[in-house]
Amino acid sequence: MIQPVQERLMGAQYCTYRVGGPLDEPYLPTTLEEALAILTMVMDKKAPLTVIGGGANSIIASNGIRGVTFLGKRLMFVQQTRDRQFQVGAGMPLARVSKLAQDHGMTGAEFMIGVPGTLGGAIAMNAGAMGQETAGIVESVTLFNLETQTLETWPHEQMQFSYRKSAIQPKTMIVLAADLRFQPGEPEVIAALIQKSLVFRQQHHPKEPNGGSVFKNPAPDMPAGRLLDESGAKGWREGGAMVSPKHANFIVNVDKATSTHILRLMVRLKHLIKERYGLEAYPENRFLGDASDVEKSLWEELTGYAWER
Ligand SMILES: Cc1cc2nc3c(=O)[nH]c(=O)nc-3n(C[C@H](O)[C@H](O)[C@H](O)COP(=O)(O)OP(=O)(O)OC[C@H]3O[C@@H](n4cnc5c(N)ncnc54)[C@H](O)[C@@H]3O)c2cc1C
Repeated sequence: MIQPVQERLMGAQYCTYRVGGPLDEPYLPTTLEEALAILTMVMDKKAPLTVIGGGANSIIASNGIRGVTFLGKRLMFVQQTRDRQFQVGAGMPLARVSKLAQDHGMTGAEFMIGVPGTLGGAIAMNAGAMGQETAGIVESVTLFNLETQTLETWPHEQMQFSYRKSAIQPKTMIVLAADLRFQPGEPEVIAALIQKSLVFRQQHHPKEPNGGSVFKNPAPDMPAGRLLDESGAKGWREGGAMVSPKHANFIVNVDKATSTHILRLMVRLKHLIKERYGLEAYPENRFLGDASDVEKSLWEELTGYAWER
């Protein structure tokens, strides 16, 4: 029988913001078989389920996570299935997907080189940068659907990829692997794009713990970072959370920030964009775990939706 991790794990260990309290029942599967055994057990027990990949786009509640936490980051297998096509485990770090494509002289994953997180999270979020996005290389996705209780293969079209969005509902659809298909490329062009991405990130992204872009861009030609910068938000603070002086759409954990500090700061930034530009900004970050009452209402204010566990 599959056992949860015995040592006490904290959400902060699985979240790039370094926030998050205790995980009640964490599992770290390494194979598809182990992953399926855990998900079957979750269904049998009707336990609440939370899925985390690299935690690079997630704020984990300082209260921690009740029920089962499925930590996907060790699902790291890779197998070539056809010419230019690979089946890759959901836990594969994005930088390694980028290297996999580069090593085979293929293009489409250069942007992933500097994006923290796993393939599973990137599929759920349709992560992207530099004019590329995850949707561009996904042929199909292997997922476990808790609602139908089956292992399913969803072709690209069924994934309904759009800006930082896909059809994946992380509470009921768990990405276990994906078939990735790349296009042939020029090695020099691929190497140059990878280098450009690395240099850009080094110059523009903060070094302190953070969760990447906090808000989606409110409109295509209105990047949240520029709007917040123009509005003077850099350096704003709530407790241990601060708007990065380097990039105004990044919040950094500078001194033992809690999930509440980050959410409070996000609400202030949302109001700032609304007051100055009349635009609604919605979170790109996800909020996972056992939200306090204050956090539930902050999240509702940010998203416009009632909090659902
Ligand atoms: C410094 C920095 C730079 C970044 N730059 C970019 C960028 O340029 N472009 C960009 O798009 N993003 C960027 N991000 C955000 C982040 O790296 C991406 O969104 C990444 O894809 C998140 O992957 P993850 O595995 O860490 O997801 P997580 O944060 O673990 O999860 C994100 C969401 O996906 C769900 N999820 C995770 N794994 C699975 C799974 N296997 N099955 C189903 N659901 C799952 C989670 O429940 C959660 O809802 C950046 C983040 C940082 C910290």
